[in-house]
Amino acid sequence: AIEFKKICKSFGAFRVLVDLDLKVQPGEKVTLIGPSGSGKTTVLRLAMTLAKPTSGDIRIFGESILFDQAGTLLSSAEEARIRRRCGMVFQQFNLFPHLTVLQNLILAPTTVLKQSKAEAKESALRYLRMVGLEGKVDAYPAQLSGGQQQRIAIARALVMKPEILLLDEITSALDPEIAGEVLDVVRRIARESGVSMLIVTHEMRFAREVSDRIAVFDGGRIIEQGTPEKIFISPESERTRSFLQSVL
Ligand code: ATP
Repeated sequence: AIEFKKICKSFGAFRVLVDLDLKVQPGEKVTLIGPSGSGKTTVLRLAMTLAKPTSGDIRIFGESILFDQAGTLLSSAEEARIRRRCGMVFQQFNLFPHLTVLQNLILAPTTVLKQSKAEAKESALRYLRMVGLEGKVDAYPAQLSGGQQQRIAIARALVMKPEILLLDEITSALDPEIAGEVLDVVRRIARESGVSMLIVTHEMRFAREVSDRIAVFDGGRIIEQGTPEKIFISPESERTRSFLQSVL
């Protein structure tokens, strides 16, 4: 679904990503772990076209995000079309505070996907059930807990029927006991839907349970990748071992 080829990203002289190669196959759940500042969030921002690499190529759904076949830069309309196929959930929930839960969920489907109100509402209710909040359709974000708001943010990404879901430290702003309910919802979606996922998290248990593959970052490079069993039980790299020791 998404492929990074020899991606470098620098801010001035500081190299955030160095020769990054990473692939997420359709339906695959890939999680990025590693020390703070190692470049994980930057990978998601590049996938979302919120940032541009300094060099290298990113292909989403077989199309290069940066250049078309003729080598010309994609227009913002084309970028928007690709972005629409990705759903993103951030650390902060970013719900519209003046809209109810239902209004938050039908806004993009009716305006961007041109769904009818009835169609958008039916789909919103289906995803609200999936995140366990069908009782909150008429609530405003401020009336919900942080965990509930984050579950709504996940439903809002899903109503757009993304082919890949990009999850950026979605529980970092939440208390541990509330984080659990959000992670349960993501686990269920991972099991029940064919959506690909690219996840950045500091929750190692979650990474282990949800991922098909884990990539360990350090200093802007992937030092090791493999199944959760390989990474957690028999990592090859000394740096992976010491990172895991520091967080487990
Ligand atoms: P964390 O787990 O703490 O979120 P991370 O692995 O996601 O870390 P990134 O957020 O990708 O790391 O950041 C990698 C490095 O790039 C950090 O040192 C950060 O300070 C730097 N960086 C990110 N964005 C910018 C920017 N716009 N300008 C300058 N430096 C930046």
